[in-house]
Amino acid sequence: SIPLGFFGGIGAASKRGVLVKGGNYLEALNSVKTVVMDKTGTLTEGTFKVTDVISAEGIDQEELLEIAAKAESNSNHPIAKSILEAYDGEIDNSQFSNYQEIAGHGLKVIVDDKEVLAGNHKLMEREEIEYIMPDKAGTVVHVAVSNKYLGYILISDSIKGDAKEAIKGLRELGIEQIVMLTGDNDRVAKSVADNLGLDDYRAELLPQDKVSEVEKLLTNEDDKLIFVGDGINDAPVLARADIGVAMGGLGSDAAIEAADVVLMKDKPSNLVDAINVAKFTRSVVW
Ligand code: ADP
Ligand code: MG
Repeated sequence: SIPLGFFGGIGAASKRGVLVKGGNYLEALNSVKTVVMDKTGTLTEGTFKVTDVISAEGIDQEELLEIAAKAESNSNHPIAKSILEAYDGEIDNSQFSNYQEIAGHGLKVIVDDKEVLAGNHKLMEREEIEYIMPDKAGTVVHVAVSNKYLGYILISDSIKGDAKEAIKGLRELGIEQIVMLTGDNDRVAKSVADNLGLDDYRAELLPQDKVSEVEKLLTNEDDKLIFVGDGINDAPVLARADIGVAMGGLGSDAAIEAADVVLMKDKPSNLVDAINVAKFTRSVVW
């Protein structure tokens, strides 16, 4: 049976915008030593903006953006939204077929009878297409049509306003290890991790790599591990962590469903509130 005090704790947490799906999670929050966080949408806003369109020799920038926008009009990824926002023209959905989203890579789709690839360097390497190496940090979408490289689009995201406060609060609560996992490239990941003073990060991960990274960090029964994420692809890793925490506003339904704790305001600093409520609840229960 669950001691009555836990119900009070769950109520106190919900007043702070933290939904805890059971007293056992409130208890486990007292023993957290490691916090693992997804980057996009968790530590960063998850709303990208196109900053540069770099076309290959002989290719028109407008043409590159148009083809990318058409291909991305099939995707719900925040990257896709930013490219569609940057493109002014009309998009007619009828000329698309064979749409494939390749996790951690990007997408492949037939547009106007031509195969379009839009994604990161791993996608280009997989498809054996030579690409230009960007000279600036940012999330990169390389574009190719019928195996011909057109260039790349550089997009940027920003770190959430309260992410620093969240990291500081977690340190003050005695969290020993804070690690970020991301499917994005190493340069972007390093800059976010350095900016926030994280202990470590792993970049260019596929969804299943996030699960194995968490497994490597799950070293000891008594020290609990939290994973915080928001995406559809995060459901398996949310389930694998001792405590899976999802962002409630931006988060996908799959992530919210798989999570044990939901941060309704999408603020990473609410994780600190959740642990504080857990500590207070324990002090009342025992
Ligand atoms: P994250 O871990 O940041 O949530 P994802 O697994 O969603 O990342 O995506 C990892 C990477 O795959 C992105 O950084 C991007 O390079 C590429 N990617 C995913 N979806 C798309 C898309 N629709 N268009 C272009 N690139 C994409
Ligand atoms: Mg994600």
